[in-house]
Amino acid sequence: MQLNPLGRTGLQLSALGFGAAPLGQVYGAQSPQTAERSVHLAIDHGINFFDVSPYYGDTLAESVLGRALSGRRDQVVLATKCGRYGVDTFDFSASRIRRSIEESLQRLQTDRLDLLQAHDIEFGDPEQIIHETVPALRQLQAEGKVRYIGITGYPPPLLFEVAQAVPVDSVLSYCHYTLLGTQLVDQLAPFSQASGVGLINASPLSMGLLTDAGPPPWHPASPQLKELARQVAARCAQHGVNVATIGLQFSLGAPGVASTLSGMRTEEEVLANLKACEQAPDPTLVAEIQKLVAQSGIPTTWPSGRPEAWLVEHREVA
Ligand code: NAD
Repeated sequence: MQLNPLGRTGLQLSALGFGAAPLGQVYGAQSPQTAERSVHLAIDHGINFFDVSPYYGDTLAESVLGRALSGRRDQVVLATKCGRYGVDTFDFSASRIRRSIEESLQRLQTDRLDLLQAHDIEFGDPEQIIHETVPALRQLQAEGKVRYIGITGYPPPLLFEVAQAVPVDSVLSYCHYTLLGTQLVDQLAPFSQASGVGLINASPLSMGLLTDAGPPPWHPASPQLKELARQVAARCAQHGVNVATIGLQFSLGAPGVASTLSGMRTEEEVLANLKACEQAPDPTLVAEIQKLVAQSGIPTTWPSGRPEAWLVEHREVA
């Protein structure tokens, strides 16, 4: 498994990372045995980067991951998040973050995190994120509870603005370097390269949109985009290619990205995604899919957070 530096942190992350949202049953039921075996299989095959959040399954994913990592904690780079606790539950205050890390450390059965990220910052108040949340994360770093700090969210421009306004070690965005669009690299890679802020690419299959099974019921894509994704999967099938395989292969090629986090719910998916890492995608089919997506004229993104607050308030902050 290829290892890549996470910006200037000194951390080396596996090109394919283990997104632990499925351990919170976010993508459907999963037995404790499957969860543990999937984690161990991933580590045994060189996946060293694990990303989780208290939000996934209302803390379940952290607890399951903590148990699965028992005795193997030192083999992984462990990232979790703070600030998001439910679909509509956010608290980016310094006091909540301080409590949050203690709770996460307990659930993850460790005394130090490698990376702590403010989760989905587009739902927060920009002034608070910049002047209270990130400084609180830095304070936890100074106290030795976390090695590095970062921010995560959906809209790359907001992540870019914050990372410019206040130094962070990493930025994570999701569903933004896939067969449906490459905004993560277009909008953040030049900044990442110039600043040394590490870049993490989450949801290469666009949270299940780019799979034969299709997305979960809560997926925020429009009906038109879901239909377009079905057409993409059908086109891949015509070529004898599984859409998840080529989708992951394409996403793994994101230039300037340290790790691509996929949410693997079963051991079969772990093995399939490890195998996908061995080959680059068929460039002709990628070009054909990108043409299909572009010619459809269907918007491939959806609203997230309260960008209107950011556009107005952040200008005052800056
Ligand atoms: P993903 O895009 O890989 O989608 C996961 C879905 O794809 C699941 O339904 C899974 O069962 C399915 N899948 C995975 N591999 C497959 C295969 N080979 N064949 C068929 N289906 C397959 O990943 P994701 O879980 O959406 O995101 C990955 C991780 O990134 C998350 O678990 C989380 O850790 C992180 N993330 C963070 C944020 C954030 O910070 N705001 C947002 C999204 C994701």
